[in-house]
Amino acid sequence: MALLVQKFGGSSVSDVDAIRRVAQRVAASRAAGDDVAVVVSAMGDTTDDLLDLAGQVSPNGPPERELDMLLTAGERISMALLAMAIQDLGTPARSFTGQQAGMRTDSSHGRARLLDVTPSRVAETLKRGEVAIVAGFQGVSEDEDITTLGRGGSDTTAVALAAALNADVCEIYTDVDGLYTADPRIVPTASRVTRITIEETLEMAAQGAKILHLRAVEYARRFGVPLHVRSSFSDQEGTWILVDRPLTGALHQDGTTRHTSDTTTTEDPMEDPLISGIAHDKSLAKITVVGVPDRPGAAAKVIGAVSTAGVSIDMIVQNVSTSPEGLSDISFTLPEADGTVAVAAVRELQHELGVADVLYTSHVGKLSLIGAGLRSNPAVAQRMFGALAEAGINIEMISTSEIRISVITDQDVLEEAVRAVHRAFRLDSDAEAVVYGGTGR
Ligand code: ADP
Ligand code: ASP
Ligand code: MG
Repeated sequence: MALLVQKFGGSSVSDVDAIRRVAQRVAASRAAGDDVAVVVSAMGDTTDDLLDLAGQVSPNGPPERELDMLLTAGERISMALLAMAIQDLGTPARSFTGQQAGMRTDSSHGRARLLDVTPSRVAETLKRGEVAIVAGFQGVSEDEDITTLGRGGSDTTAVALAAALNADVCEIYTDVDGLYTADPRIVPTASRVTRITIEETLEMAAQGAKILHLRAVEYARRFGVPLHVRSSFSDQEGTWILVDRPLTGALHQDGTTRHTSDTTTTEDPMEDPLISGIAHDKSLAKITVVGVPDRPGAAAKVIGAVSTAGVSIDMIVQNVSTSPEGLSDISFTLPEADGTVAVAAVRELQHELGVADVLYTSHVGKLSLIGAGLRSNPAVAQRMFGALAEAGINIEMISTSEIRISVITDQDVLEEAVRAVHRAFRLDSDAEAVVYGGTGR
């Protein structure tokens, strides 16, 4: 008998039929003798619809406390309906809000971090042989205010619950059959990954593969929670994300790892780079600060001003100064939604720093190739940049780490770029990936 935490995303509970299908799956796991705690997201696009409503009643921006109160209603609806549907099948079930499940957070509304997880009522429910259902994405602050963990945060609720209950596995049920070598909505021939290390998954999530909330992966790594990402629409085995394993490269659905040498086999040379997949992020913007005096402290001032404004910066590139006046340019990327705030923060400094200009480009995207041993092998970058050049795609910025090479391109050509690089590394499979539902938003 195992203890399972099963998380169902919005597209898995989008309507009555979907909720009843999930209820059957949960009841079947319980009937097989496992203890089951469920974490559920809001139905379909409920969270977006609620956000839209809030925007309509407060065009100047909704107060964050009230917005959290509103958004958490989405998960309450689905948790109660799922509990009813499970009980209707004759399996005892009980639903709990994040607060009732002991999800204590800090008070940063909209992006609250978990401070303490004490799911005693959930544990009691399981002990009685009942199914416990917990509303995802929410908690309660030290001041007893309701908080949310940020978009996609139900994954984090599930992993935190699995860690606190010492569950055998945290199953993330979604609308695709697991983690693929690229978003199957963009690359239909992407290969399903059967197992992958937590480090590579962390990098995929950090670089925009939204199948898993980044904080959920971080939490799983910290607490050693094994994750199994799979579809709620099929019975296929999904992707196992392994904690505490060396970087062995992702194992793909045809039973091989993807090396970069010309044959694809598990017996390739030990030091060959291993490709896990490609992540992309479509919602970025770029700021270029032109003519920054080339002296100590200038970059710190520019970047400091932006982060003080609460904007998280991603890629930063500073040109080597070649001008006789000793001026250089600094470019960085940031979430497109924070563009106005960031530009204002830099412009405030323009005079003090003697900066020539501040240029803003919205609508850029990032493609990241992820795998083990990439930086130490220049052939990988060569193949990646060659594929982009052949597709006529201009690279605006480049950054690398030990397990990643990222490029910034125009948003309009990003999807084509993903397909070109995916092809170049022979990541395509013969079968088409199934996308069962959802909008991919
Ligand atoms: P849920 O509602 O179940 O939380 P999400 O929409 O958050 O589901 O995440 C699932 C989606 O993630 C898929 O439908 C797919 O479009 C997208 N996705 C992005 N990158 C990948 C990837 N590498 N593998 C699989 N899915 C991916
Ligand atoms: N319902 C929330 C969202 O749409 C949380 C989640 O689904 O994980 O972001
Ligand atoms: Mg999600």
